[in-house]
Amino acid sequence: MSNSDTKYFDKLLMALPQHRQTSDLKIVLKQLCNKEPTIFMKEGLGSSNEVLDSLFINQKDLDIAAARWQRWQEALTMLFPELADSQGLIESPIFNLNSYQELTGINLPGKTIIKGDHALPVAGSIKARGGVYEVLAFAEKVGEQGGFMKAGGNPKALLSKEAKAYLSTYKIAVGSTGNLGFSIGVMASALGFNTAVHMSQDAKQWKKTRLRSYGVNVVEHSGDFAAAVKAGRAAVEDDPKGYFIDDEDSLDLFLGYSVAALRLQKQLESAQITVDESHPLFVYLPCGVGGSPGGITWGLKTIYGDNVKCFFAEPTASPAFLLRSLTEKPCTTYDFGLNNRTEADGLAVAQASDLVYELVGKLVSGYFTVDDNKLFEILVNLKKETDIKIEPSAAAGFLGPVRFNEVDKFWAKYFPQYQQEQVSHIFWTTGGAFVPESEYDGFYQKGLELIQARRKNSRKD
Ligand SMILES: *Cc1c(COP(=O)(O)O)cnc(C)c1O
Repeated sequence: MSNSDTKYFDKLLMALPQHRQTSDLKIVLKQLCNKEPTIFMKEGLGSSNEVLDSLFINQKDLDIAAARWQRWQEALTMLFPELADSQGLIESPIFNLNSYQELTGINLPGKTIIKGDHALPVAGSIKARGGVYEVLAFAEKVGEQGGFMKAGGNPKALLSKEAKAYLSTYKIAVGSTGNLGFSIGVMASALGFNTAVHMSQDAKQWKKTRLRSYGVNVVEHSGDFAAAVKAGRAAVEDDPKGYFIDDEDSLDLFLGYSVAALRLQKQLESAQITVDESHPLFVYLPCGVGGSPGGITWGLKTIYGDNVKCFFAEPTASPAFLLRSLTEKPCTTYDFGLNNRTEADGLAVAQASDLVYELVGKLVSGYFTVDDNKLFEILVNLKKETDIKIEPSAAAGFLGPVRFNEVDKFWAKYFPQYQQEQVSHIFWTTGGAFVPESEYDGFYQKGLELIQARRKNSRKD
């Protein structure tokens, strides 16, 4: 390690609770500071149900959130014709992945399944669950105040000309690297809200252009994601008709995401995939601030308890949630010399949501980091094997079992109770369907070049 890396290693070691300052974890810290892929397994979590009982939300909140989505089905079908087939449900399919080894180079016993949120309608990413939900919740609140609908009534009343004119007097603001802004921009502008999306410098130009085409006001900021969030908050702070959607601190986003767990449960049942004590579900979720993987983890734990194990995937430059969990203190990746520069723009987050950490810190089984280049290789292999198109962020989950494989006696050490053949692995693909062709071609080309370069090198050895 260079001198500066040693400095950050020492700083990170000092930030850890005493009981974590072990030789095993020192290896993890070194890998983190060197920006090498690593895995941190959270041990001593205790029973999921006990943890769930200690939280301020419970199964009822999950049901309330599911009921809101249901209330909106008719209105959403009217707003988005593409939802006609699903009767207004914004949902994605699951399907078998027959070629995990072709994707990653390692053999993985058990079932391998993709949860295809890369193709979620309306927004083309997992943000359709959280972002859309929070806009719907706010629209109901405002609509009730304005006398356009009753609590729990049919929100299609909000689609009238008069209601829309009323909603347009309200402002919604959000800070985003892209996908959240898009899901909120599309939904909020469809309902008539006056919408501003504050974006960071690493947000892709095409995302800004597309948002503007929906009539959304895009405000650009020179700082990172956190800076854009701050600016967005400031923009509506003093406005009584302004509402800020706070990606770092939103229970509505979290609950919107959590409903995915109920939907997945139904899909697994239809596919006759058993989840029980000897047939656990291992779920791999790309993580930014933690809202989407956190909400889904909480929902799944509420349904399956200890029979589901969730793992969060982050880029080596942005392991915000891993660091939050490792140190058990609020911190940023910058504190430890990690610059948060990653091609996985949906995961380019330097600081985890503290709200989400409070809710799921004791429910997530492990965290791993991924090298940007590997994301492009997986993107290419996935297209070749399954013909699905994802964005780099959405590839991160596939590397979970690869990290497991790098740990000596991983299964015996962490999951001695399971037979590997009986595990169902779910890889959550979180975005990609709305990426423009030319942009996707660039990702694909880059992945191809990386694969070819690696083949050439291995021939030389
Ligand atoms: C936002 C995003 C994530 C992560 O969600 P968080 O709520 O930020 O943790 C994962 N994948 C994609 C494609 C995203 O846009």
